[in-house]
Amino acid sequence: MYRDIAVPSRTKEILTKHGFSFKKSLGQNFLVDVNVLHQIAEATAVGPEDGVIEVGAGIGALTEQLAKRAKRVETFEIDRRLIPILEETLAPYPNVTVHHQDILEANIEQLIQEKLKDTNDIAIAGNLPYYVTTPIIMSLLEKRLPVKRMVVMIQKEVADRISASPGSKTYGSLSIAAQYYAVPSKVAIIPKTVFVPRPKVDSAVLRLEWREEPPCYVKNETFFFQVVRASFVQRRKTLWNNLQHNLIEKDQKETLARVLENTGIDPQRRGETLSMEEFATLSNELIYAGV
Ligand code: SAM
Repeated sequence: MYRDIAVPSRTKEILTKHGFSFKKSLGQNFLVDVNVLHQIAEATAVGPEDGVIEVGAGIGALTEQLAKRAKRVETFEIDRRLIPILEETLAPYPNVTVHHQDILEANIEQLIQEKLKDTNDIAIAGNLPYYVTTPIIMSLLEKRLPVKRMVVMIQKEVADRISASPGSKTYGSLSIAAQYYAVPSKVAIIPKTVFVPRPKVDSAVLRLEWREEPPCYVKNETFFFQVVRASFVQRRKTLWNNLQHNLIEKDQKETLARVLENTGIDPQRRGETLSMEEFATLSNELIYAGV
């Protein structure tokens, strides 16, 4: 009888047949729970006219569920040993193309233009390799790709940081960077037991809805993110302290004090209490003041 790739007995057969051994250094924790895969695939909301870009195919467990729903799936896998396995496991899905490439080096814009031009909406999905979760998410967000959303399985702790609001313990520069490009929401918390091998930490499925416009006016994005990062260098320190030591030159203290006063942002506040709009105002005003 036909069984999905993620059914534990089928996964085991595939791994044994090919003598596959997991590489921890590549974040290889494969999903062996079809319900969780359905949850991820459903959250992408892709239908028969849509395209998906997948990060990290593994043996194709998620790829298969995406291929059943979408028009086309373009999936990336860095580990050469998995390519012949994927050729076999994904043979029933002619709408899938496997790219043997590091996702961080892929030209996704070109891929979309060439391979997904005849699809309606495009989503990104993946059970991400945990060693490189944040660089993958940020590089895909920063590219401003013409995609609708991204649905990713990541460490719960990173999902918490990405979706945190001002004032919370997990709110920081990653929350602001991600929320500048997208609107995050946690879809589900996932136990360790649905992976082989089991990771040490709990996971979460996070959905990021791409914004069409940034949520606030930022005059210079590079400087805006510099101000944000500088404000969180030492979380327990005040904004004044962090900005003085990590952003401005020694002779710009007076300008900083004046800008903070004019914007009504108390220098004694901590970075973790500032909203994205306040960071935007602060960075814009610092630019106007010549910092
Ligand atoms: N999608 C499969 C699943 O859910 O069972 C595998 C997920 S596993 C957590 C992550 C996969 O990403 C591994 O197969 C790993 O080899 C691959 N990978 C790791 N780093 C990568 C990178 N930079 N680019 C593309 N794939 C990568």
